[in-house]
Amino acid sequence: MHSINCENFRDRPEPAASVLYVVGTPIGNLSDLSPRAKLILSKVSFIACEDTRRAQILLKSFEAKTPLISFHKHNTKSRIPKLLEHLQSGESLALISDAGLPGISDPGEELVSEIKNKGYEVICIPGPCAAIAALVSSGLPSKRFCFEGFLPTKTKERKKAIEAISKEERTTVIYESPHRIMNLLEDLSNSCGEDRPLQLARELTKRYEQTLGSNIGEVLKYLKEHKIKGEFTIVLGGLSKQPVIEKDKTELLIEINSLISQGTSKSEAIKKVSEENNYSRRVLYSLLHEQSG
Ligand code: SAM
Repeated sequence: MHSINCENFRDRPEPAASVLYVVGTPIGNLSDLSPRAKLILSKVSFIACEDTRRAQILLKSFEAKTPLISFHKHNTKSRIPKLLEHLQSGESLALISDAGLPGISDPGEELVSEIKNKGYEVICIPGPCAAIAALVSSGLPSKRFCFEGFLPTKTKERKKAIEAISKEERTTVIYESPHRIMNLLEDLSNSCGEDRPLQLARELTKRYEQTLGSNIGEVLKYLKEHKIKGEFTIVLGGLSKQPVIEKDKTELLIEINSLISQGTSKSEAIKKVSEENNYSRRVLYSLLHEQSG
């Protein structure tokens, strides 16, 4: 059996100077922290973290004492120059969020972009991500998928987002806070219909982990009957393409003639049949012409 030595399998030892490591951390189960993540978090000069108290708990689990710098959505702008100074002076940095992968509905994207713009290296130490864990265990198509994260909270934007999601043919992954989950499922039910396939991943990697399905209606029913709590990720099946039923020319002609016999003008009848069947008006005219000729 091969074993991977975390420190030596690259040409240079990790962590390297002036590098930002984006480190994935557990979404509920501490055992999901990888040996390489532990090594990086123990040895970098500083860790930028969303919540220093939560980060302390994580570090304590493997007895690391790395200095922490708070980095969250409210201090992103002012912290980025300070973090850049650390890289400039040759120090190494790790970025973690409260759970999962930084940059996925968590702070990180702006920092990574700034650091790369300034020419520094960014390396990801991959780890758990609720969206990916929910997707791959959903049984819904994962070859191509969309990630929506949290939907907008403002009514108009939210409605627009849900409408677009309802028309999406790929599987869509959505994050939602526990107190809004019922509302979101109701909204999805109204726009996608109760029968649309849906898997609701609850408390992934934790003690009460559960996946509910198999469609919006069933999940809504379950949630109304069982008051369940926890963190949720929605995996929504895509809109299935309606099979196009192509009518043959005779059927189209029958429809046009029937409208004309009911008093519709020739041009109106052709327009209507053309729109309803997504069929060229020009071709319909020539069909009618051939019939009378
Ligand atoms: N960066 C994180 C990641 O990589 O998954 C996501 C952070 S986002 C602020 C938090 C949301 O992720 C939650 O509201 C929930 O929708 C989802 N989530 C996080 N942990 C979860 C879990 N254990 N089970 C199900 N969903 C989870």
